[in-house]
Amino acid sequence: MLNLILFGPPGAGKGTQSEKLINGFQLAHLSTGNILRAEVAAQTPLGVEAKKIMDAGKLVPDTIIIGMVERRLREDSKRSDIKGFIFDGFPRTVAQAEALDKMLAEHEMSMDAMLMLDVPENELVTRLLKRAELQGRTDDNEATIKQRLATYKEETLPVAAYYQQQNKLHTVEGVGEIQAIYERLKGIVDGIKQ
Ligand code: AMP
Repeated sequence: MLNLILFGPPGAGKGTQSEKLINGFQLAHLSTGNILRAEVAAQTPLGVEAKKIMDAGKLVPDTIIIGMVERRLREDSKRSDIKGFIFDGFPRTVAQAEALDKMLAEHEMSMDAMLMLDVPENELVTRLLKRAELQGRTDDNEATIKQRLATYKEETLPVAAYYQQQNKLHTVEGVGEIQAIYERLKGIVDGIKQ
């Protein structure tokens, strides 16, 4: 199994590059943001609560997120058509990273690498405002973007140090052509697989 985390601030291109990695390496996509947006769209009690937090640019509580990932891992680890997982937007706190290590061990798996997309902050804001026009995500407005970037720095960035301690952190420049960025990521993954 090949298990990867695609990491970086909001607007770094995690969704775009996840899709390419999924196709390139036959991985299951596990995006906590997408799972939450599906709950919001279905107006479940969790979705209603989560929407308020998401629109404020804050993090949904760890216990809720970890439960969601646990369920998805249990279902998808039975799939015979995948060769691993790509975690997108998760883990976002050190507590989530610790829980993920435990969950993977329970399924006799481990994390292979964290791929971090490095993008300057002014470029992130430009991209997120453009995405707001194209996709209409309610958390892509200017005030929420600012808060999401602050949340990333305070709560999520320490997760990179967690994987660096395990020698699993790889940083890639996330600016340029989408395909060129993918080639950089692919080069790292090819190296890990050997
Ligand atoms: P994303 O699509 O990954 O940018 O996620 C959108 C929003 O969903 C985030 O700003 C958070 O409010 C929430 N969210 C997604 N993933 C997580 C997570 N792993 N932990 C906490 N909140 C999350």
